[in-house]
Amino acid sequence: MSFIPVNEPLLDGNEKKYLCQCIDTGWISSEGPFVKEFEQKMSAIVNRKYGIAVSSGTAALEVAVQALGIGVGDEVIMPTFTIISCAMAVTKVGAVPVLVDSDIHTWNMNIGEIESKITSKTKAIMIVHIYGLPVEANKVLELAKEYNLKVIEDAAEMHGQTCNGDPCGSFGDISTFSFYSNKHITTGEGGMVVTDNEELAERCRLLRNLCFRKDIRYIHDEISDNYRLTNLQAAVGLAQLERLEEFIKKKRQMGRYYTERLKDVKGLILPIERMKYSDNIYWVYGIVLDKEIKADNKAVQSFLAQEEIGARTFFWCMHEQPVYRKKGLFGNKSYPNAEYLARKGFYIPSGLALTEMQMDKVIDKLVKMMDIIE
Ligand SMILES: *Cc1c(COP(=O)(O)O)cnc(C)c1O
Repeated sequence: MSFIPVNEPLLDGNEKKYLCQCIDTGWISSEGPFVKEFEQKMSAIVNRKYGIAVSSGTAALEVAVQALGIGVGDEVIMPTFTIISCAMAVTKVGAVPVLVDSDIHTWNMNIGEIESKITSKTKAIMIVHIYGLPVEANKVLELAKEYNLKVIEDAAEMHGQTCNGDPCGSFGDISTFSFYSNKHITTGEGGMVVTDNEELAERCRLLRNLCFRKDIRYIHDEISDNYRLTNLQAAVGLAQLERLEEFIKKKRQMGRYYTERLKDVKGLILPIERMKYSDNIYWVYGIVLDKEIKADNKAVQSFLAQEEIGARTFFWCMHEQPVYRKKGLFGNKSYPNAEYLARKGFYIPSGLALTEMQMDKVIDKLVKMMDIIE
């Protein structure tokens, strides 16, 4: 059996057909009809009025932050355990990320810490759902209301997931998605901002497209960027969306399969299957090494690589990023849970194209590894 990649997407629906339509009609840029259709379908799925397709999940976060008017000196509360896109969107506009530690069990931001981080400069809270279980968004929304703060929801990993019965992507002022190739729904590269606020949606459309003024073209009152998604990408996205339910079902089956077969392996902490507010969607199947194991996730990654299995270490914390360290952004504060996850957490192959035979091999090698590892 050959190398098992950490993620392989499934593209065997209408992707090819819709792509051919783009080529046949000549609509390949962002002006094509699939873009609007993709925006409508995706926003409807998450109960939002407006969807604004952009070029990546990172672009979606940048557009969201800018649309909310977050700027120099403002503070945005977010987890330290996340992808740098979240922090970058904030530091790019001169605002300051204010970090919270992780919940060691769910790997999401510890909601209980948020209130103590609120200051007179706090403008927003950024919720980031990590790996499979959502942040209990309702609780954050209550807090935000009490302190009159905006909420940005990064739902990049949560297409099709719910929290207390409502879709991820429906919480707060504005939510963002990524359609990178390892996400449940992919367009290769791509993203979307969704909101119920017409004014915000209009701001996002402007920001996506160089802030061309609506009345006269080539006149600009503001600086932004070209964040447009192409019709080709939207064509793939539409075909993918048709299969969202099937994909989610498959992800959950895969997650349960891994758990069933790994649950008695000593030294491995497996993802939680169910919280009161949500069932795990296993965007990736994450595993954390128990305290008694001395090895770290890099050792795991190299062991599995030798066995021809792709694995990835967990996110590296924002407060430990060299680029932010250099700027002295987060001082010497420590966030012990997040630091532990960053060193001891890894994820194993969990893409939609993964077969049961491949999963069996991954399981075998993990078991073998735990026999050897110190
Ligand atoms: C993937 C991801 C992003 C970034 O999306 P890109 O499309 O790769 O720019 C942002 N936030 C989270 C939580 C992600 O998982």
